[in-house]
Amino acid sequence: MKRVLPGLVLLALMVLASSVSAQKLQVVTTFSILQDFAEQVGGDSVEVSSLIPAGADPHTWEPTPKEARLVAKADLIIANGGGFDDWLFSLVENAARADALVITVSEGLEAIEHGHGHDHHGDAHFWLSVPHAIYYVEKISQALTALSPDNAAYFQGRAAAYRDELVELDRWMLGELSKISAENRVIVTYHNAFSYLAERYGFEVAEFLVANPDAEPTPRDLARLTDLLRRTSHRAIFTEPQIGSGTRYLQSLAKEVKGEIYVLYSDSLSPEISTYLEMMRYNTQTLVEALEQ
Ligand SMILES: [Zn+2]
Repeated sequence: MKRVLPGLVLLALMVLASSVSAQKLQVVTTFSILQDFAEQVGGDSVEVSSLIPAGADPHTWEPTPKEARLVAKADLIIANGGGFDDWLFSLVENAARADALVITVSEGLEAIEHGHGHDHHGDAHFWLSVPHAIYYVEKISQALTALSPDNAAYFQGRAAAYRDELVELDRWMLGELSKISAENRVIVTYHNAFSYLAERYGFEVAEFLVANPDAEPTPRDLARLTDLLRRTSHRAIFTEPQIGSGTRYLQSLAKEVKGEIYVLYSDSLSPEISTYLEMMRYNTQTLVEALEQ
């Protein structure tokens, strides 16, 4: 009897350990910014994976069997919606558990239509306006609470603390960006990601090269943008870190109009800018630096 005891104790410990880890809700998000939101709300009670790795371009990314395995073990699956991550839905259909909860955080928000292009969805980058991020966080908090009512107070407390930080961020951005005079508040960029930022913080998205980064710009697109930049006082062009092949178009444009290239984060976090709060602060400072005076 004495000799079997250590084995039993070990077994009991293993069962205990597995039930503790099983208590962590498994959350899967389509991209890194939603992963940050889910981690902010879920804290130690969740394990969150992003299907699109940080730094990749969500517009051209495609899922592999590795992502299907992540979806298969998820309790909660979080999509952005608005046409941004439609590939998720067939992945969910094929791989997700029947009892997994799937939410679309932009549902209920009104989309701004593209100025041009053939994309019928409108701009899906809702999160670049902080009040929309607060809306996302509320949806994530509700979903986590529904899945784990025992942790309701924990999730709601964390969501409230994070919401306070976002409200403060929004106020700070409004103040900082008001340093830029009205006639300089013009964004020229690669893809149409900034219409909600423009709407919230009083900018005009004068032009973007492509409506969807799937497409390469045409010579006509480039000519139109060159013309426009020649007429602006700052000739600042904003690129985004996840845009690989698109950068060369912007570089040749900048050279042609003797303009300057700046980086704005839109679709992905990175090792250097690893949270939404950092991303929005960085973007704000960049806009002020590029367009002030
Ligand atoms: Zn995008």
